[in-house]
Amino acid sequence: MTRLVCFDVDSTLLEVESLDFALAERLGPEAREKLEAITNAGMGGTMSLRTSLAARLDLARLSRLDVARIAVALQRHLTPGMADLVANLKARGDAVAAVSGGFHDLLRLALRDLGFAEAMCRTNRFTWDGEAVSGFDASIPLSDNGGKAVVLRELAAASGASETVMVGDGITDLEAHEAGAAQRFIGFGGVVRRARVAERAPEFADTVADLRAALLP
Ligand SMILES: [Mg+2]
Repeated sequence: MTRLVCFDVDSTLLEVESLDFALAERLGPEAREKLEAITNAGMGGTMSLRTSLAARLDLARLSRLDVARIAVALQRHLTPGMADLVANLKARGDAVAAVSGGFHDLLRLALRDLGFAEAMCRTNRFTWDGEAVSGFDASIPLSDNGGKAVVLRELAAASGASETVMVGDGITDLEAHEAGAAQRFIGFGGVVRRARVAERAPEFADTVADLRAALLP
């Protein structure tokens, strides 16, 4: 009986929102305000995820060099304690996966450091116009609202899991559980505590220690 534990990445496995972290480095103060407004509209549900992604990528034309540099910088923003927790879950026999609306080229190194096998990392992908990011691959379900539920079901089928647990800070993580794609949901407030998630989540962990206790009783 395999248990599949799926982790959200931004503000869960990482102490930052990876795309905004990447863009903020490239933007002046005015554009940063705009970025924040777009991100909040996306998270608040007043803008679709795809519109929000496209608008954010349009704000700053990331180059291959930017992306490579930021991927390395993100390795210094792992949420403390998460790599140990992932190792302990694997030792117990759990399948572990990372599921993110963030981008493969930004997250690849950080997720490797956290102990995730490449095949168990499901993320969005940039499209490229020569040396610059031109947008995102819209064929990936994670670029759309409700995409996490689709991917969780695929991962559960591929790993033969009898139970799926979703861990995350965001409303999209909770919605994957509410859509029936994960039997358990543990809200995570160790980086950002989102009130709407804390209110609706059947289980909630304010720290990595709480999360460990919930997953490894
Ligand atoms: Mg998140």
